Amino acid sequence: MKEILEIKARAKEYCSGNFNPEICPKCGKHPVKFKRHEIRSRKWWIVINFYVHIINSQISRWICPKCKGRFTLWPDFALPNRRYIRKEVQNRSEDYVEDKTETYWEATCVDKAPIEHKDEKYHVMACSTVWRWLKWWGGQDEMLRRGTDLLLKVLPSSKIHRFHSTISAKKYRSIERKSLLETARCIFKMLKEMPKIINTINSPAAQ
Ligand SMILES: [Zn+2]
Repeated sequence: MKEILEIKARAKEYCSGNFNPEICPKCGKHPVKFKRHEIRSRKWWIVINFYVHIINSQISRWICPKCKGRFTLWPDFALPNRRYIRKEVQNRSEDYVEDKTETYWEATCVDKAPIEHKDEKYHVMACSTVWRWLKWWGGQDEMLRRGTDLLLKVLPSSKIHRFHSTISAKKYRSIERKSLLETARCIFKMLKEMPKIINTINSPAAQ
């Protein structure tokens, strides 16, 4: 399947000795060259045609020459410590807070049909999966703060800081959950605007 082959190829690029991470997540510095520390095997989960497929792949760990810190380099199609690829984690979470899906059960379906695992050990995608993803997104205050700062710096006309995130009252029972869902919705809004930064940097006026 094309999507699986593309992910395998992308993962391979990140593990290549010629690849160089852009920034050290430990110290925030940009050394000229990082040292590849090790390659580990890693499985990614992807949904294709009502089924979860498991992609056997690899992931790389690197050493920063500035602080000697070691870190895992998460490919752009993935999120840290998530088995499902980013597209699933982001789109299903976003559909829920944007009311495109009403319940966590619906958020874990395709056309209201449960998603089954090819590996029978897990049966179907659990309803709690999207609930846990949103808990994670809702806790990423630093991602939201840094992303918003960057957007406003490159695109001062952005209205991102004025976005008022509201969540359907049916979707939470506590103030804590409401707050997590609101933060998650702001993050998805912010991520949607990120490609504009690339367009701005690449525009003739900026060169
Ligand atoms: Zn470092």
